[in-house]
Amino acid sequence: MAKVDVAVAMLAIGETMSDVAIPRSLVDPFGRTVDYIRVSVTDRCDFRCVYCMAEHMTFLPKAQLLSLEELEQVCRNFMALGTRKIRLTGGEPLVRRNIMHLIRNLGKEVKVGNLDELTITTNGSQLSKLSDELVDAGVKRVNISIDTLDHDKFREITRWGDLDNVLNGLAAAKRAGLAVKLNAVALKGVNEADLGEMVAWAGDQGFDMTIIEVMPMGDIGNENRVDQYLPLSQVRADLSKRFTLTDSTHQSPGPARYVTVEETGRRLGFITPLTHNFCESCNRVRVTCTGQLYMCLGQDDSADLATALRSGGENGLTEAIIEAIGRKPKGHDFIISRRAPSAAVARHMNVTGG
Ligand code: SAM
Ligand code: SF4
Repeated sequence: MAKVDVAVAMLAIGETMSDVAIPRSLVDPFGRTVDYIRVSVTDRCDFRCVYCMAEHMTFLPKAQLLSLEELEQVCRNFMALGTRKIRLTGGEPLVRRNIMHLIRNLGKEVKVGNLDELTITTNGSQLSKLSDELVDAGVKRVNISIDTLDHDKFREITRWGDLDNVLNGLAAAKRAGLAVKLNAVALKGVNEADLGEMVAWAGDQGFDMTIIEVMPMGDIGNENRVDQYLPLSQVRADLSKRFTLTDSTHQSPGPARYVTVEETGRRLGFITPLTHNFCESCNRVRVTCTGQLYMCLGQDDSADLATALRSGGENGLTEAIIEAIGRKPKGHDFIISRRAPSAAVARHMNVTGG
């Protein structure tokens, strides 16, 4: 089938790809171009962060996961529809067996200019051994999640994590030449007093940093979101007592709002899904490790790409993607309150990918 440049990717009811040409870009019903996918390559993880998972999580049977080849095929179909940036996440993406195989194959697409960027969100536990390989494969940037620099609190938050191992991973990433951004989730009464120290340390290390409000995703056992939730308006006010924070002109289509920390010269982002709606410029969708496409992190609607891939015929996967983008919602609706203390969406962040 000939490819033509069609701006809006939508199939009318009953229409199939044999009736229309394959678009080169995906534009949703609100005019937002979707050119960024986040792919959760596994729901498994070597940590059990208190805001992300219950301590005794039941993971998906491995047979339900897309193979690495299938994940790559999904990525390639998105690329044919205009995707320019892919982020691999999880669970912990770097604990999936043979993950470097997928990273190398996608990295080649960066090297030849078919992708602008391949990035990874990781807890850092594998970076001591994998940083050099990642750079060699074509990865230039990683987001590393670290919520505190205090050993005891790190163990309390991650339950199974070892701060020294993660710090060694961060050092290896820096040595290998990866640009590092730190992600820290703000947790009331847990790491709130540590965030200033982290901002200063990130500055010393030459890392940008983003602080994230805890989101109501998935049952987390005995932990309570209301107890965890710390509005970033408060975090920013506290940080302003120690640092000069200047609103940054840096814009990204993502959810973060940025400031420059004048004392360090580094960028600091605030992701505030609960206090601000960040959806107007949303350019992304998420694919889970079982091949479900979520058009919004905070909504339940999804499309079954696994079935489309395995039994949808020649254009089944492409059709399923286009149809799903036609259903991308305007925004999410997260609330954490005493009345609604539990999950707004049932699935955990490790399934959808953060
Ligand atoms: N394991 C990797 C990591 O931790 O970076 C990648 C997956 S993790 C789900 C991605 C990001 O989501 C992490 O920065 C984590 O802190 C964040 N996250 C997980 N659960 C969250 C929640 N309920 N609210 C806000 N952020 C969350
Ligand atoms: Fe694992 Fe990342 Fe979830 Fe922590 S936030 S439990 S490191 S997936």
